[in-house]
Amino acid sequence: MPLDDAETTTGQHHPVPLVDLKSQYLSLQSRIEARIHNVLQEGNFILGPEVDELEDALKRFANVGHAICVANGTDALRIALMAAGIGPGDAVFVPAFTFVATAEVVVDLGARPVFVDIDPQTFNIDPDHLLARIEETIRDNSHRPRAVIPVDLFGRPADYDRIAERAEQYDMFVLSDAAQSFGASVHGRRVGTLAAVTTTSFYPSKTLGCYADGGCIFTDEEERAGEMRCLARHGFGADGFSAVRIGMNSRLDTIQAAILLTKLEIFEDELNTRRRIAGWYETGLAQAVITPGAPSDAESAWCVYSVLSEHRDRIRESLAEEKITTAIYYSIPLHLQPAYTEFGDGPGSLPATEFASRQIFALPMHPYLDRATVDRICEVIVRTVS
Ligand SMILES: *Cc1c(COP(=O)(O)O)cnc(C)c1O
Repeated sequence: MPLDDAETTTGQHHPVPLVDLKSQYLSLQSRIEARIHNVLQEGNFILGPEVDELEDALKRFANVGHAICVANGTDALRIALMAAGIGPGDAVFVPAFTFVATAEVVVDLGARPVFVDIDPQTFNIDPDHLLARIEETIRDNSHRPRAVIPVDLFGRPADYDRIAERAEQYDMFVLSDAAQSFGASVHGRRVGTLAAVTTTSFYPSKTLGCYADGGCIFTDEEERAGEMRCLARHGFGADGFSAVRIGMNSRLDTIQAAILLTKLEIFEDELNTRRRIAGWYETGLAQAVITPGAPSDAESAWCVYSVLSEHRDRIRESLAEEKITTAIYYSIPLHLQPAYTEFGDGPGSLPATEFASRQIFALPMHPYLDRATVDRICEVIVRTVS
């Protein structure tokens, strides 16, 4: 552990960041720099061999047939929806409690996002409310239910079994937004294989992050994989120069692939460490706030560690006084975001989502947190609420 002592010699505590990319870099520095140096020497900055190597490594890691690296997690979602033919007249069901990108791509393609409430225990899309929203949409008869985008919020896989039942019943496409959950699994099946298509993000603070924007699309369907790769490369066909589709330019650059290859070597260990840290928080905080708990049927990737409290503001102030960083994901749910209100039913329409947005906050979570720091964070919180 790079941080073995939370206290300096002067008795002052180190500031505790939400995510510590610096410690990770220092522990991998020589390996990362050697890989980057190699790319600089070779000069294949766009779609160099490291990108292919990374796609192969990601496929092996997730045990999935196809991996297509793209420029970011938002593009990944957009390309997956494009390949599924989503457009005007279509309804796409998304949780209201997520990052804005999940709904942004839907609107961008001319389809209508339909906001679904969350399960208050998991913060993920509520399959019962999903069913209600599908039936409502059918009754309204203005948009055709075509797809659902479950989000594995904070790293915890959504309830794919129950979502698949709904999707089959209504012939809908399931696109997993796994931007926060790469590395998670359900009954030993890794994220990447839990839906027809899965997308992730390599944004620096995600579980597997690069040093810029990056993303990836996973699927086991060969034909669909070819179509998505084509769309991400300007719509060029197999010959590489005839544009057979209207595509886009979405590539992961070679330097980022080299960085990700290095980080992938320690990724499994980092996931185990995140799980252990979540356990420390659970033990320290269960009496003081509402903790997420560990899923019984799945392994979360623990991208974000969020808790709920009616004393949120007071707790965050106490932590800030101790230079412990916190954040709120998400203080404004999508149906209340100014640009998206026209697609929602206003305040009060999604009670579990709105409750979470009022009480939730995220604590520091990264694989370089030591026990003493976690104990200190818990102590401040327990002291503040008692
Ligand atoms: C980060 C994130 C995205 C977008 O990923 P980018 O790589 O930043 O485009 C999409 N959905 C969710 C849930 C995210 O957390």
